[in-house]
Amino acid sequence: MIKFKCARCGAVIKAADGAIGKNVKCPSCQLKLTVPRPKARKPLPPLKPVLMVTAGVVVFLFVGWLVWPSPEVTRTQKQKDGVSERDRERLERQEFEAGLKREREALLREESMRRKDVEVYERRQAEDFRKAEEARRKEEERNQQRFELEEKLRREREEIEKRKDKNLYVD
Ligand SMILES: [Zn+2]
Repeated sequence: MIKFKCARCGAVIKAADGAIGKNVKCPSCQLKLTVPRPKARKPLPPLKPVLMVTAGVVVFLFVGWLVWPSPEVTRTQKQKDGVSERDRERLERQEFEAGLKREREALLREESMRRKDVEVYERRQAEDFRKAEEARRKEEERNQQRFELEEKLRREREEIEKRKDKNLYVD
């Protein structure tokens, strides 16, 4: 079934499919007409520009939301905001334990440095002691030598005195 309008009176005329291309008369005004071939279905009218821009923005935002890599901070924040109470407590405990670990490492570093200082100090003291001991030993040696020398001189003087006495008596 084909519907078309009369060109003159505008009456809507119905015709069978087989009548396409045939000459007929308008039943209303008797105008001679050719039954037209039915028009192809109209394509959709193009979207209005505003609508297109809006659709484009929506698509852009959606795709962006899908592919945008969420940064670490945002994810951590999301974890804090979105996860359950238990997960939040777990995160807090982890942060607390990490803090303790850092503190402990700092203490160990300090302790290690202190121990090294002590080692250096003790080594220096031992070295000083060794030097003092050596100086003392040398001083003792010198004293001993001086003492021996004085002793020798004393004996020689005595010998001389004795000889003087003998001489006196001999003569
Ligand atoms: Zn007509």
